[in-house]
Amino acid sequence: MKKITSIKTRITIWYTTLMFILIAIVLALVGTLSYRLSLDNIEKNVTLQVTQVSEKFSKRQDDVFKNVDSNKEFKNVSIYTSDGNYIVGQYNYDISGIAFREGKPRRETVDGKEYIVYDVQKHSLPGGHNGFWIRGAESVSSTILFGRSAIVIILIIIPLILLFTAFGGYYITKKAFLPVNNIIKTATDISAQNDVTRRIEIAPDAKKDELHDLSVTLNKMLDKIENLIKQEKQFTSDASHELRTPISVILAQGEYLLDIAQNDKEKELAENIVTKAKQVSELISRLLLLARIDQNRQKFNKEKVDLGVLTDIAVDSLKSLAEEKNIQLLTDIEDNLIVNADEVLLLSAITNLISNGIKYGNESGYVSVSARRSGNAAEIIIADNGIGIPEEHIGKIFGRFYRVDDVRNDEYGSNGLGLAMVKSIINLHGGEITVKSKFGQGTEFRIMLNE
Ligand code: ADP
Repeated sequence: MKKITSIKTRITIWYTTLMFILIAIVLALVGTLSYRLSLDNIEKNVTLQVTQVSEKFSKRQDDVFKNVDSNKEFKNVSIYTSDGNYIVGQYNYDISGIAFREGKPRRETVDGKEYIVYDVQKHSLPGGHNGFWIRGAESVSSTILFGRSAIVIILIIIPLILLFTAFGGYYITKKAFLPVNNIIKTATDISAQNDVTRRIEIAPDAKKDELHDLSVTLNKMLDKIENLIKQEKQFTSDASHELRTPISVILAQGEYLLDIAQNDKEKELAENIVTKAKQVSELISRLLLLARIDQNRQKFNKEKVDLGVLTDIAVDSLKSLAEEKNIQLLTDIEDNLIVNADEVLLLSAITNLISNGIKYGNESGYVSVSARRSGNAAEIIIADNGIGIPEEHIGKIFGRFYRVDDVRNDEYGSNGLGLAMVKSIINLHGGEITVKSKFGQGTEFRIMLNE
């Protein structure tokens, strides 16, 4: 069975059940009490009528039979002969089968119906009679005990009260929980769109209850988080700026040292400085680009770009890198495939993906770039038959500084910012990038861009 998870439904079920139990307990108590009282009343009534008729007999009043036949006071009395044959009486219960017995009023059941029966025997009277049985009787069916109104209450009014409670309560709870829906919606939007500028909507006339306070507190918390993120972005941007000049100086001087190196040892040291300085310089450029995109400061010139031309430029720039590993660079671009994009940024994204294909490709493998129209969009696929990405890493590779294997990637001087940058660039274009990969077989990146 499906578990009920909505608090509204659970609260409604809880208080409706509680209401039902309370009504049941009250009804049971009131019912038992009134049942006992009614039984006592019936017993008293039957006993009284029988005693009065018996007294009339004892006083030898002549109108006894007439009275028992028609007087409303004796509607629960009948008179029988001493062998149990009916003579006169007002009630029409078929209870002559119940054996006559003197004593106290008692409960008897005939054909599933219950009666209170009270018998008194009158012995032979002067005048030749053999004697009589005076029998008082009344049915104790629930209708008589509780009355019709009680049954109407149990069968109609109580279910109506329960229905009203359930629906009314659900409506009130739903209204009270409305702010929770706003909170959920805002939280979902923030995580789906990575947009911490969103806030929980609070109606100006909203009641100042606990949920209102919660919304205000969460909005304050979001203000703080947004500020922290801004500060962090500013820090990255400032730090990268500060590092740019010293690293350019190190690179320039390293290159100078390489020029004037006197022997192999000096050459090796200078080469090391140049390589590392180039890596740090590349890292700083990526960090600066990411910071600019994050802070909406990146210059973004959308123009009509021919994807075929762009891909050729990217492939040309990476030819020598591919030749080092004997990797073939294949292209298959539909003619006149024009997209609306910032040429420099898109070139950088495509170059990055091809260069990853080469970096993580096998000797004598291939990296292919294909592109075609797909509805209103252009689809660009960059695929390789390289080392692939283990499944557990696939969801994380677009994260900043994320590298699948630190040791392996150090060989390539990688920093884990390439794919983060590519994703930021594609998002800036309003596009989408996805990846499919099989460890040991190869990787495929798919970009969708609006034309
Ligand atoms: P880097 O610039 O350091 O290569 P990226 O952000 O470009 O970092 O890539 C992140 C990680 O994803 C890399 O460490 C690498 O392990 C993996 N990766 C990226 N592209 C490929 C690919 N084509 N084949 C296999 N692994 C890849």
